[in-house]
Amino acid sequence: MSLIVQKFGGTSVGDVERILNVARRVVATKEAGHRVAVVVSAMAGETNHLVDLARAIGGDAPDPREYDALVSTGEQKTIALLSMAIQKLGHKAQSFTGAQMGMRTDRSYTRARIERIDAERLHTVLNQGMIAVLAGFQGVDDEGNITTLGRGGSDTSAVAVAAALQADVCEIYTDVDGVYTCDPRVVPAARKVHRLSYDEMLEMASLGAKVLQIRSVKFAKRYGVPIHVRSSFSDVEGTWVTREEDVMEQLVVSGVTFNRSEAKINIRGVKDVPGVAAELFTPLSDAGVVVDMIIQNVGQDGTTDMTFTVPESDFVRAMTLTKEVANKLGAAEVLGNDSIVKVSVVGLGMKDHAGVAARMFRCLAKEGINLQLISTSEIKISVVVDAKYCELAVRALHAEFCEDGAAEPSVEN
Ligand code: ADP
Ligand code: ASP
Ligand code: MG
Repeated sequence: MSLIVQKFGGTSVGDVERILNVARRVVATKEAGHRVAVVVSAMAGETNHLVDLARAIGGDAPDPREYDALVSTGEQKTIALLSMAIQKLGHKAQSFTGAQMGMRTDRSYTRARIERIDAERLHTVLNQGMIAVLAGFQGVDDEGNITTLGRGGSDTSAVAVAAALQADVCEIYTDVDGVYTCDPRVVPAARKVHRLSYDEMLEMASLGAKVLQIRSVKFAKRYGVPIHVRSSFSDVEGTWVTREEDVMEQLVVSGVTFNRSEAKINIRGVKDVPGVAAELFTPLSDAGVVVDMIIQNVGQDGTTDMTFTVPESDFVRAMTLTKEVANKLGAAEVLGNDSIVKVSVVGLGMKDHAGVAARMFRCLAKEGINLQLISTSEIKISVVVDAKYCELAVRALHAEFCEDGAAEPSVEN
C-alpha cells in the first residue's frame, strides 16, 4: 500500500463542480488501496481577491502579520468544501489548517520558510483510513502566528508534507498536463517533457516557469521526493521530476523560459578601485533586495560601469538606494529600466555540448534582437532583452532548440 500526496491548484478547485471532480479523483486513489493526503490551494482568483482587499485598506505595505492572517483564509474554504465532497462520496475525510497539521515555519510573514512538520496527527489520521485534506500555502510559527509561504506556496506545502510522511510520490495536479518545453500559453508549439532532473526543474522554475514554486523543487531534491506534474482534467501521464540518474534522455536544451518581472539598473562612472562593489551591494542586501545578474565593464580612465538586475517589485527601492550610494561614490549617473525580459535556455546536456551559447546568440541576432546582458551557468544561458521582444525571442529560441528539425549543436566536447 503506497502513501500518495496529491496537490490540486486553484483552477482545479475553481468552482463546486471542479471540487466534486477532485473529490472523485481522490476517492479513486483511495479505492485503489492507497493512503492519501490531499493539499489544496484557494479557489482560482481567491488569493488575488484577498490581496486586493489587503491593499485597499493597508495600501502598498499592509501589516505583514494581518496580511498573512487574511490571505491564508482562501485555502481554509477549500479544505472544508473538499472534505464535505469526499464525505458525500462515502469516505472519511477531515480538513486541517496549517496549524492543525503541524506545519511549523519561521516568522518571515508573506514568505515564511518551513522549519518542520509535526506529523504525528497526520499519521494517526491516515492510519485510521481517513483522507487528510490539508491547507496549502499556510503554516504557523512557534507562537501560533499564521504565516504564508509566498505565492504559489501550496506546491511547497505538498512536497514538504510528502517528505515528512515519506510518501511514495507527490502528485501536482494543475491546468496543464505536465511541464512543457516552454509555457504553452506563449508557445503553442511547446511539447511535454516526460522526465526532468531536479536541477533542470530548479533552473526552469527560477528562470520563470511558474508551474512549480522554486522552493518545492528544492525540498523535493533535498528529500528525494519524486514529483509527478499532471492534469486535473485527464488521466494522461504527466512529467516526472526526479534524480538525475533516473533521467535517461539528456536533452541539450530541455526548455526555454522567460521572466518579465525583473528590472535593470546601470551605474556609470564609478571609481575603478577595490571596495566599490561592496559599497554598492551591501545596502541592497541589507534591505533584502535580491540582486540577480551583475556585469561590470572593463575600466577605462580610472572609472567603470556596473549593471545589475533586481526583482521588478523592488525596483523603486533599489533605485533610491543605488542613487544614494552613487552620490557618496561620486558616480556620474544612475539609469533604470523596468521594461526588460530575461529569456533563458536550460538543459542538462549543455554540460557536455559546446556551441549552445553561440547558437542562441545567432538565433536572436537573426531576429534583430539586441542583447543587453548575458549570464551563464553549467546548465543554462540567460540574456536580457527589451520586453517588447519577449514573445519573438522565446518562440525563435523554442523553434531553434526544441522543435522538430532542431539540429544538434555542431561542436561537441
Ligand atoms: P496551479 O494553480 O495549479 O498551481 P499555476 O498557474 O501555478 O497552476 O501553474 C500552471 C501554469 O504554469 C500553466 O497554466 C502554464 O501557463 C504555466 N507554465 C509556465 N511555464 C510552464 C512550463 N514550462 N510548462 C508548463 N506550464 C508552464
Ligand atoms: N493560493 C496561493 C496563491 O495563489 C497559493 C497557491 O496557489 O499555491 O499563490
Ligand atoms: Mg501554482
